Amino acid sequence: MTNEQLAQRLRDHDMRPTKQRLAIAAHLFDGTDKHVSAESVYTTLKQAGIHLSIGTVYNSLRHFADAGLLRAVPGLGDHLTYDTNIGAHHHLLDVDTGEIIDIPALSQPVTSADLPQGYELEAVEITYKVKRTS
Ligand SMILES: [Zn+2]
Repeated sequence: MTNEQLAQRLRDHDMRPTKQRLAIAAHLFDGTDKHVSAESVYTTLKQAGIHLSIGTVYNSLRHFADAGLLRAVPGLGDHLTYDTNIGAHHHLLDVDTGEIIDIPALSQPVTSADLPQGYELEAVEITYKVKRTS
């Protein structure tokens, strides 16, 4: 995605395309679905020579999520992860590492057969997101 396409995507979601937001958006929307934290985005940008404050990264990710460009995913403890894949899918949470792994949305409960090789089911916790209709 070009810088202008990224800027347009932000404007389409009522976000002003500031230089900082564009730098973050270029990392988030590089064509690969990813789960990120403020810390991981901060570190990745820093390694690429882009220096933003951690507070700016936190606030920007929250704005992206509020605007519907990212999905907030609860992780271990109060650790918040953001998902660039906003389509329907389920998550596996590795309870040892905190890693979040995508699996396709299934209409049936997940069984051991649905897990990637090398994993066993530790626990299931399903949150159905709903809205009041009136
Ligand atoms: Zn995901």
